[in-house]
Amino acid sequence: MSFSFLSHLECSRTGETYDADRVQGVSEAGAPLLARYDLDRVRAGVSREEIAGRANTLWRYHELLPVRDSAKVTTLGEGMTPMLPLPSYGAAMGVPGLLMKDEGLIPTGTFKARGAAVGVSRARELGVTAVAMPTNGNAGAAWSVYAARAGLGSLVVMPVDAPGITRRECVVSGAELYLVDGLINHAGALVRAAVEERPGCQDVSTLKEPYRIEGKKTMGYEIAEQLGWQVPDVILYPAGGGVGLIGIHKAMQEMRELGWIGAAMPRLVAVQAAGCPPIVDAFEAGHDESTLVKGTHTLAFGLNVPKALGDFLVLRGVRESGGTAIAVTDEEILAAVRDLATAEGVWICPEGAACMAAARRLRESGWIDEHEQVVVLNTGTGLKYPETVNVDVPVLPRDGRVPA
Ligand SMILES: *Cc1c(COP(=O)(O)O)cnc(C)c1O
Repeated sequence: MSFSFLSHLECSRTGETYDADRVQGVSEAGAPLLARYDLDRVRAGVSREEIAGRANTLWRYHELLPVRDSAKVTTLGEGMTPMLPLPSYGAAMGVPGLLMKDEGLIPTGTFKARGAAVGVSRARELGVTAVAMPTNGNAGAAWSVYAARAGLGSLVVMPVDAPGITRRECVVSGAELYLVDGLINHAGALVRAAVEERPGCQDVSTLKEPYRIEGKKTMGYEIAEQLGWQVPDVILYPAGGGVGLIGIHKAMQEMRELGWIGAAMPRLVAVQAAGCPPIVDAFEAGHDESTLVKGTHTLAFGLNVPKALGDFLVLRGVRESGGTAIAVTDEEILAAVRDLATAEGVWICPEGAACMAAARRLRESGWIDEHEQVVVLNTGTGLKYPETVNVDVPVLPRDGRVPA
C-alpha cells in the first residue's frame, strides 16, 4: 500500500509529461507543471470512510499528495480548518447559507502554510537543501517556518511594504531575508539571479515548482468532506497568483473522477482588488491570459500580483466552472473586516474580506441566489494586519471615570 499514488507531472499548457521524481521547475513551454496521480489505484485503495477516521490534518489525503515516504512529511498540524456558518452576516446580505472556511486558524495564520507544508516536504524528499522565493509576505513566512522544521535553508525577498509581521516570521525562523524597494515581480528577478549561483537551492516562486498547488488543493477536499462529500453552489477565492483557485478546481476534478463527489461543480469566483485586477480585466475582455497591470495598489497585499504565471489556469477554472471574476475597492474591504467582526466575532484578513464584499455585490446583482450555499475562503487571520483597524478611544486620567 503506497503512501502516495503520484504518477507523473504534466505541462499545464501542452500536456507533455515530466518525471515527478526529480526536482522540476516549469515546463519547456514555461508553464506550471501539474501533479498527476494514479486515480484508479486511489479509488481501489482508499475510501471516504477510511479518510474520516484519520488525523485532522491535510495529510489525511496523503494518497493524493506528492510525498512518497511518510517519514519525509514536515507538519505543524496544518489543515481541517473550521467551516463556520455566518448566520447574522449572511442573512444581512441576503445569503443565509453563507459559510466561511477559516484559514486564520492554521500554523502561520494564513493558508500559505498548506503550500509550504507540502512543497517543503517534497523538496526535502527530492534532496533540495534550500528554498528561495519572492513573496508579498505570507508565503515567505510560511516557507521559512516549514523550511526550519525540515532542516532546510531559506532565502526570501519581499517588498519593503509587505506586512511587517511577515518579516519577523522570516527572521525568527532563521531565513536569509532581503527587502526590495519594488513589487513582487522585482523580488522575483532578484531570486532568479541568486538561485543560479547556489547549487541545491530551488526557486519555489509561485507555480515555478509543482507542489504548492497540491498543498492548496486540500482546501477543495476539505470543503467537500466537511459538507458531507457535497459541493457548495459557489466558492469565492481571493486571487493573487491564483494558486488556491487552481488547486480547488483541480481537487474538484480529481474528486469527480474518483467518484467521491457528483458531476456538479461549484462556480468558482476569482476576487481581486480594484487597484490590481488583471484577472478580472482578462475575464471581462474574454481573454485567455492577463496583461501586466502597472501602478498597482491595494491594502490586501496578497492580491497585489500585477501578472500571474498561472493566470490562464485561473481563467480556465473560473470559466469551466461557470464562475466569474470581480474586483472590490479597499473601502469595501475595510468595511467588510469591521462588519464581519462585529456581526460574527471573527477578525479576518483583507483578502478574505474582499470575498465577503464580492459576495455582497454578487447577491445584489442576482448572480448569487438567496437559496444558494456559498463558501467564502478567509485566507488568513486579521491578527496579521493590525493596521486595518483604527483605534481612536479616550485615555482616562488615573482619577477619572468611565462615562455613564
Ligand atoms: C497569498 C495570499 C492570497 C492570494 O493567494 P494566491 O495563491 O497568490 O492567489 C490571499 N490571501 C492571503 C492572506 C495571502 O497571503
